[in-house]
Amino acid sequence: MTGTVSLHPLLDKGLPTGSPGFTGGTLVCECADRPVKVKVEGDVAHNHACGCTKCWKPAGATFSIVAVVPHDKITVLENGDKLEVVDKSALIQRHACQGCGVHMYGPVVREHPFQGLDFIHPERFDKDGWAPPGFAAFVSSIIESGTDPADMSAIRQRLSDLGLPPSDCLSPGLMDYIATWTAKKSGVLQS
Ligand SMILES: [Zn+2]
Ligand SMILES: [Zn+2]
Repeated sequence: MTGTVSLHPLLDKGLPTGSPGFTGGTLVCECADRPVKVKVEGDVAHNHACGCTKCWKPAGATFSIVAVVPHDKITVLENGDKLEVVDKSALIQRHACQGCGVHMYGPVVREHPFQGLDFIHPERFDKDGWAPPGFAAFVSSIIESGTDPADMSAIRQRLSDLGLPPSDCLSPGLMDYIATWTAKKSGVLQS
């Protein structure tokens, strides 16, 4: 039954609201002892719910909440020795806390339209006000982590009702951005 599927604790109670004056904060992992702390300057961009199997999500959640910030806005403040890259061959170098598993930041270092950006989970901020999610990405992928395919249309409807247009890749705007970068790189489009 879809009524029992948790999208994400924050989405289940309605969408968090942003505040225009949000200037950043500190991401804190779930460890009670020696938590990893990462400072982020400025607000997040392209915040969204993600259904892929790679993003960190809290216990019981079907979707992650994930956004990007420029890499130079990220500073590890405390206990960075607990961080390890989950998969060094992945596009996103997700730095996870070895104690609790939370992904604290994930830079894109190889040549790619997202190069220079870090993926973070704004729910780990020590304060509210960050820009709320605006779409849902990789929705079909939640089947790969165990969601009943029969629940999909109700889940897509709930996402739409929350103001998160569901997509099975990234949003149309981001897919256009990636394709434009690729077309310019190949010379099909002039810069
Ligand atoms: Zn931790
Ligand atoms: Zn994801």
